[in-house]
Formats: sequence, structure tokens, C-alpha cells
Amino acid sequence: MASLFERDIRTLRGVGEKRAELYRKLGVPSVGDLLRLYPRAYEDWGGGIAILDTALGEVCAVRATVVNAPSEHRIRGGRLLYKVKVTDGRDDMELTFFNNKYIPTLLKAGQEYVFRGKVQGNLTRREMLSPQFVPVDKVRPLSPVYPATAGLTSRQISAAVGEALKLLPETVNDPLPLALREEFRLCHLGYALEHIHFPQSEEDLQTARYRLIFEEFLVLQLGLMRIKSGRRGRNMHPVSGQFPEEFANLLPFALTGAQRRAIGECIRDMAGKTPMNRLIQGDVGSGKTAVAAALCYAMIRDCADGRPRQAALMAPTEILAAQHYATLSKMLAPAGIRVALLTGSVKGAQRRQLFAALEAGEIDLLIGTHALLNEGLSFQNLGLVVTDEQHRFGVDQRSALQLKGHSPHLLVMSATPIPRTLALMIYGDLDISILDELPPGRQKIETYLITPEKRRRAFAYVQKHLEQGLQGYLICPLIDGDETGLMSVEAYEKLVREALPQARLCTLHGRMKPGEKEAAMDAFSRGEVQLLISTTVVEVGVDVPNAVIMVIENAERYGLSQLHQLRGRVGRGQVKSTCILITDGENEEAVNRLRMFRDTADGFKIAEADLKLRGPGDFFGARQHGLPHLKIADMSTDLTVLQKAQRCARALMDRGALDDPQYRGLLLEMERLFRSAPGALN
Ligand code: ADP
Ligand code: MG
Repeated sequence: MASLFERDIRTLRGVGEKRAELYRKLGVPSVGDLLRLYPRAYEDWGGGIAILDTALGEVCAVRATVVNAPSEHRIRGGRLLYKVKVTDGRDDMELTFFNNKYIPTLLKAGQEYVFRGKVQGNLTRREMLSPQFVPVDKVRPLSPVYPATAGLTSRQISAAVGEALKLLPETVNDPLPLALREEFRLCHLGYALEHIHFPQSEEDLQTARYRLIFEEFLVLQLGLMRIKSGRRGRNMHPVSGQFPEEFANLLPFALTGAQRRAIGECIRDMAGKTPMNRLIQGDVGSGKTAVAAALCYAMIRDCADGRPRQAALMAPTEILAAQHYATLSKMLAPAGIRVALLTGSVKGAQRRQLFAALEAGEIDLLIGTHALLNEGLSFQNLGLVVTDEQHRFGVDQRSALQLKGHSPHLLVMSATPIPRTLALMIYGDLDISILDELPPGRQKIETYLITPEKRRRAFAYVQKHLEQGLQGYLICPLIDGDETGLMSVEAYEKLVREALPQARLCTLHGRMKPGEKEAAMDAFSRGEVQLLISTTVVEVGVDVPNAVIMVIENAERYGLSQLHQLRGRVGRGQVKSTCILITDGENEEAVNRLRMFRDTADGFKIAEADLKLRGPGDFFGARQHGLPHLKIADMSTDLTVLQKAQRCARALMDRGALDDPQYRGLLLEMERLFRSAPGALN
């Protein structure tokens, strides 16, 4: 296989310079890459059916003989048209082809073909317009469809693949050794490649698919494990292992049992032999920030060797970073810990000062957005890296921050419940702590689903709460403009000002300058502003416990997990909170989805439903987890194969099997896969 990846695609018959360029655009520079360009679908040609058995309006493959040579007609604009009569011995069908001067040479009277196209005409007379056709002895039951590019048709690719397959020597080198193939009942690579492209039957195709999916998962999993074992050095930043009680005493509340447990688990990791690598999963509002703060405290105040250490906390948005800065400075300043904030809007002299202070060890905890990844930024001695809402960052971004220290401990936090197998896949063999308990006194958030006609009443309800000194969020999908049926922040502001003239309100959206956003958020946290009219920029992490009302306009526009995050902005204090979803109710499916959301508070259940509804694309898209692009395997639908491949990878790693020369091919595949995601190997 390896040599085929070194063999230029131009060496294939029928592929010249021009086509080779198109193949390169498809990411297929070599013959090996072409063989790994799997069909995206298959057309069912079968052996061709009789004309009588076709259904009007459907795409069918018909087996029939050409009755007489195609007749040529000139139509308007000088265009050519051919008519061909075909028969299956019992019925006739008329075919029409436009502007294809090759028809007379391709279709010969008396010869039998399979014609595939949409069946038109009427009950007694069947027709097809420009059907595809193949001589009957060349028909493939399942014909591959390739991701075509401009200038390169699926058919041309198919022909090239046919040429490439001829080059596969009888004994193509399989990166998976025989024993492993036998254990997991995998077919040989040569068989898999041939049948993934040109399967003889559905069964054939499944055999080939299973083998290729397994291989891809295995290669990915092994690659990730190797990255991790490379990272897993000695623990250079060991803490004493004591629970940070002094920190707990600084808090205005008692930690929940779940928080204490998670902190304990992390402290144990950080006191251990290798660096911590842990994920904390906890539903919105479960108190992840306090856990992160406790660990930063321990790192900064309690390192076993007594040398000063620094910690970094990265958040996905400026608003969230600023809020973490406010919360954590308040928690940690009494202990003398120096906290600083770095976002993209810290510039000029201020920024230079901050960089210098950080390098000199005059800052203990740096909080910020991905601005923390800036190349010029260096720490004096970074011992702990925390990433909040980790699913918003790629693997490469997380590891880039880690590289700012000498194997710092790593903690990632997420409210998105990811099934364990997937978490393992995405993070290698990461340890997981779960916050399965909300702080005490939380009440269920009452959720209502209403139509826009009831908006007035909803506003009156909001007004009542404002009079009690409480606050609320109003969420719109657009910033401005008037796309039909969609509410904008700008239009809503007018609406609310009319309905609630007394209310102190302000707007917030992604197009505002960072300073303006911060000012709006600050005014809202301090209670000066009662109502925040916003886009979903407040979706993640924002914490203002006095806000108890969440109104979401055009609720049908959002995914369930997103709604759950938005709803999670309220219900953070002792007062009963309300979430009002407004939707016109025109789309029945959307309404059912929203009803389900209204009746469910459990984030795990909601995430599951969301995954089912939306499919894996959004949830596990490469953009979110930063993994290399997979060619055939799908992490959400091929779960059982994934589990098998994980088991296999684990066993191989434990045995140290990859040093064995028979696994050389597998190592090469690993390198090839991860070349497409270079950051992941850092
Ligand atoms: P999330 O897990 O969504 O990040 P936060 O860390 O923002 O949650 O915490 C949500 C709210 O709960 C905050 O206002 C925080 O101060 C409060 N909180 C956290 N832990 C406790 C606790 N043990 N007791 C009471 N309130 C808590
Ligand atoms: Mg949070």
C-alpha cells in the first residue's frame, strides 16, 4: 500500500496533467489516495428490470435492446437531439438525448444495455430523458458515486479507480496483520478496497465497509493514545495532596458533595506521578467555576517543592473570560493571589506590561480567551491549564496552551455531556469527573411555550419581576435587519421600550466592540440594567444569579442543547426562575421538539435527544473537537465498531505491539492520518 501512496496519479492510464490537477484539488495526489477516495453513495443498477415493472416518476434501471439506430433531429438554436427506441421483448420505451453527439457511436442497434433514469410518459407509453446507460455485460449492481469536482465526473473517477485497482498486486500489503484480522473478523485490505468501490452485492459492501471503518478508528485511536503517552511525562508540578480547605473557607457558600469529590480527584491526580489530564462534566449551573478556582489555588499556593507556579484559564468568549476574571479575583484576592485578564482587546502598553509581569512571575493566574495562545506570551512556570467549555476549542488549541509550560496539568470542563466512548476517542484516555449534583436551594425552572400573540402577557409577567428587583434576558436570533418572521435585537428594543417604558434595558451582541460588551455585561451584573436584550452571545457560562427570566424569541431556530445552555442562564439563585419560549408554531416538528424541551430539565437527556435529531455533524464536527478528518468512519453511527477498535488499540498499546515490525504499516497509516491535523501531534 505504501508504495501506491508514492505513485503519482498521473501514472494511471487516462490521467494527464490537467486531470491530475483536478485530482490534487480533491486531495488525491497519488494512486493510493485515489483508492482511499471512497464512494459517497451507490446507485442501484441491479441487472435491470422490465419496462412493465417500472414506476412512473421513479428512477429505474431498465434492461432493454436498441431497436434501430438513433435518429437525429435539429432543434432550436442548432442543438442536436437523438431519439432511440428500445425494447425488452415485450414492451417498448422511447429514449431522448439532448446535445450528445456521441450517442450514435455509443448505442448500437441490436445491442442490449441497462438504461437508468427517471421514468416518464404515461401508463401505456414509457419514456426516459437522457438516461445513463451501460452495456449489459458491463453493468455493476451497485455503481459507485464519487464526490465530483468541477471538471471531473463521478464516472471518470470510477474509471480511474478501476485502473488503480488493477495495480493492486495480488498480495497487497495489509497494515493489519493476519492474527488481528482473524480476531476481529476483518477482510483483507485488497478485498476491502475492491469491494468498497465495486461491490457485487450489499453484503460485499458491508464486509468492506466494516473492515475500513475498523481500520480508520484503530489508526485514529492509536494515534491519539501515542500523543497522550508522549505527553505523559513525569509530574513536574506536584501538589501536596491536601484538600484546599483554606480555599473552601474563602467561599461564600459550602461546596457541594460533588464539587468536593471532583476537587479531591483532581488534587490526587496533581499529587501523582504523571501530570493530570482530566475532564469535568457538569450540567449548567453545577458550579464548575468554583472547582477550577480551587485547583488554581492549590497549584499556586500548595506546590510540594515550594516553588511558585502559575495557572491559566481559557474561556471561549470575551464575555465569559471577563466574568471568570471578576469571579475568580473576588474568590482568590483575599488569599493574595494575583489574577489578570487577557483578551484580544488588551492592547499596546497595557499588553506589554501584562506580558512582562507574566514572564517575571508577578501574575499567578491568567484568565483569557484564545488570546492566551499568542506566540509572544510566556509564563515563568505554568503548572496548570484549565479550559472552560472545552468543546468550543480544537485539540490543537488546547495543546497549544499546554506547550506554554513544561507538561502542566490539564483540566477541561464542559457542560455538554458526551458519551464516554466518544469522550475517550476525542481526548485519548482522559480521566473524567462528573458533577452530578446542583448547589442546594435550586428550584426547577418553569418553562412555557407560547405564540407571539401572547407576548404582551409575557411582558407583563416580566414587569412584575422587575418590580421585585429581579432581572431577565430577552434573546433574539438577529442583530438587526428584518428577515421575515425573525426578531432582531434592534427591533425588539423598540418593542420592549414601548411595552415596558419604565424598564432599564440595554442590548448586547457580537458586533459590539469588546469594551462596549463588557460595559453592558457589567451594568447587568451590577443590577443597573434590568433587562438584557441579546443574541446568543450570552449562551455559554454567563452567571448573574439575580436574573430569573429568560425569554427566547423564535425558539424554533435553536438546537436543544443550545436552548438548554440559554435556559441555564437563569435558575442560578434561590428565587424561582422562568423560561418563556416564543414560537409561531407553524412547524409541527419544531413544536414537538420544544414541547419535549419544556418538559425535560435533565441536560444529559436533552443532549441525547439533540444528537438524535440533529445528527452528529454539529455535535462532533471536526471544528469542535479538532480531530483529523475521517474518510469513512462516523463517530456517532459506527459506535459498536468504535468500541471494538478501542479495545484493540488498548491491547496493542499495552503489549507494546507497535514496536513489532509487522505493525510498521499501521504506524505509516497513523502518520498519514495525523498529517491532516498537525496540531494534534503537539
Ligand atoms: P457552571 O457549572 O454552569 O459553570 P457556575 O460555576 O457558573 O456553574 O456556578 C453557577 C452558580 O452557582 C454561581 O452563581 C455560583 O456562585 C453558584 N455556586 C457554585 N457552587 C455553589 C455551591 N456549592 N453552593 C451554592 N452556590 C454555588
Ligand atoms: Mg461555567
